[in-house]
Amino acid sequence: MSLAEIRENFDAAAAGTRMYELIEQLYPICRSITGDGVRRTLEILRRKIPLTIYEVPSGTQVLDWTIPREWNIRGAYIKDPQGKKVLDFARSNLYVVGYSTPIHGKFTLEELKTHLQSLPEHPDWIPYRTSYYVENWGFCLPHRELLGWKPGEYEVCIDSSLEPGALTYGELCLPGETGETILLSCHVCHPSLCNDNLSGISLLTHLAEHLASVPLRHSYVFLFVPGTIGSIAWLSRNRSRLSSIAHGLVVTNVGDAGSCHYKKSRRGEAEIDRAAAHVLRHADPDCRILDFSPYGYDERQFCSPGFDLPVGVFSRSVHGTFPEYHTSADDLDFVRPEYLADSYSKCLAILHVLEENRTYINRFPFGEPQLGKRGLYRKMGGQNQPLADELAMLWVLNLSDGRHSLLDIAERSGLEFHVAASQAKRLLERGLLLEHTRASRPKHNAGMAPIHSQKQSRARSRKRSLKGA
Ligand code: ZN
Repeated sequence: MSLAEIRENFDAAAAGTRMYELIEQLYPICRSITGDGVRRTLEILRRKIPLTIYEVPSGTQVLDWTIPREWNIRGAYIKDPQGKKVLDFARSNLYVVGYSTPIHGKFTLEELKTHLQSLPEHPDWIPYRTSYYVENWGFCLPHRELLGWKPGEYEVCIDSSLEPGALTYGELCLPGETGETILLSCHVCHPSLCNDNLSGISLLTHLAEHLASVPLRHSYVFLFVPGTIGSIAWLSRNRSRLSSIAHGLVVTNVGDAGSCHYKKSRRGEAEIDRAAAHVLRHADPDCRILDFSPYGYDERQFCSPGFDLPVGVFSRSVHGTFPEYHTSADDLDFVRPEYLADSYSKCLAILHVLEENRTYINRFPFGEPQLGKRGLYRKMGGQNQPLADELAMLWVLNLSDGRHSLLDIAERSGLEFHVAASQAKRLLERGLLLEHTRASRPKHNAGMAPIHSQKQSRARSRKRSLKGA
């Protein structure tokens, strides 16, 4: 089966259920930027896809950062003046500020309050907070619970450890026909939060399972990394491979009911930017294309000026813009199988564009080739309008001059990419098109291409070789 066929035969209900089940399985685990929660998460993914798991020791210098000490937590509680447990980590891992240092002691309510976070505007939700790079400890809790706490002495315990260890991340490489690589990345550092982190993990896992079974033109690298420090560590350790990255997507917040968003790479007009914009524009009118900004997820690292990789972000609701973001309300009810499946099919459509976006040459550019005698045109003439597939074929033939890619043709004609691609396939099979590759160029240029395109393609290859030097 090809990627095009996977796209066409996509079973949304089955895919949605599978992705949702993985989220359910991963939801209880307490993840952070380091520690056993990430390891356990990656081990579960490894039962589905052949991930390689890497450990980068604490103290390792990665670009301008240092891998921090490893954080693990076994439990935490607060007891009120009567000795009753009023907060218990066992009930939700969001109760403890991520990376809290160990503590066991007694505090007055006033003292304790400087270590407590709650959301008065959403009194039943627990906020999600971390303190990775400043040593501190703290608790998060529903504001309504806090309002019930009476003055007095509270016993506080956080049974955590912050010790030399490692940062853990997972990587999966799927080799393709060419070395040109598509980078797909998600963060794995949030505890029980479904849309922000688990939805991206689940979508990419499912995608990797799917792509592993089909022939691919591009090679693929899937990254499951702790946010910021994980992508920085990966970039630092893989600098020699970065020149092969032709396209990339950070995938996050893909399970909620919001409409889809694509945030462009720093380059703004990279092929991934055009492919994603094309797919979303045709998919539904509520989808939005956002310009690059240096705030967000790991695109911040991939698109830092020194690397400037063509990596955009695919999401539904955008981080920070929905009230459930970074709270306990980003739970198993907030994400739904049908939205996961919808996000998945859109990601697949974007990858399909990247896989099939080839440039062709019309072998009969002087006048139209006679399509009827090749069984490609209706038998009866005289109708007012061409049939949709005939019109699509005419566009592909007309613009296949070695200078327009299929995506260019789709954009200029208003066709959906997969329509242009399927007509190109038909024309190729009937010998009317030739793929414009380095190998095909001299043979074709000898007789058929218009003179100006020869000149331009020579100019282009000169430019390329200058750039390469
Ligand atoms: Zn987040």
